[in-house]
Amino acid sequence: MAMTDTDTADASTSAPAQIPLVDYLVLDDGEPHLVAHECTSCGARFFDHRNGCASCFATDFTTVPVANEGTLRTFTIVAFAAPGIPVPFVAGVVDCDGTSVRANVVNTEPDPEHITVGMPVRLTTFPIGDDANGTAAIGFGYEPTGAVTQ
Ligand SMILES: [Zn+2]
Repeated sequence: MAMTDTDTADASTSAPAQIPLVDYLVLDDGEPHLVAHECTSCGARFFDHRNGCASCFATDFTTVPVANEGTLRTFTIVAFAAPGIPVPFVAGVVDCDGTSVRANVVNTEPDPEHITVGMPVRLTTFPIGDDANGTAAIGFGYEPTGAVTQ
C-alpha cells in the first residue's frame, strides 16, 4: 500500500507532532537548523525579536539561516542547577560561522577530557518531553562532530 502525496491535514490532525522549544529552531521537512534576525543595515544577528538593532539602531531585519556546524568558543561545566535538571551539564557558546549561539554541549561526557575550547561541533536536536496531547517539545544543543551517536 503506497502513501499518497495528498495533504491529509485537517482539523483533527492539525496539532503538530513536535514543536520547537524556542521559535528560532526550525523543524521543517529539511535538516533542523536555527534562524537569526539579521540587521539589514549592519549585519548584526539576534535570536530574539528586536524592534531596533542594538549595534546601529536600524529597524529593518531579515531572517537568515545559521550554519549547523560551528566551533566551541567557551564553556562551563555546570555542577549545580535547579531541582530536576540533571547535572553536570556543559553550557557553551558556539561560533557558527560568525553567529554566536548559547547552547549546551551534549552527547559527550561532561568533563574537561572530552570538552575543549575550539573543538568542532554541530547542531543536534532531542525531545524534551511530551504534553498531554502527545506533542513533543524539541530542544537543541551542539555535539562534537566526532561524537558517536546511536
Ligand atoms: Zn544594525
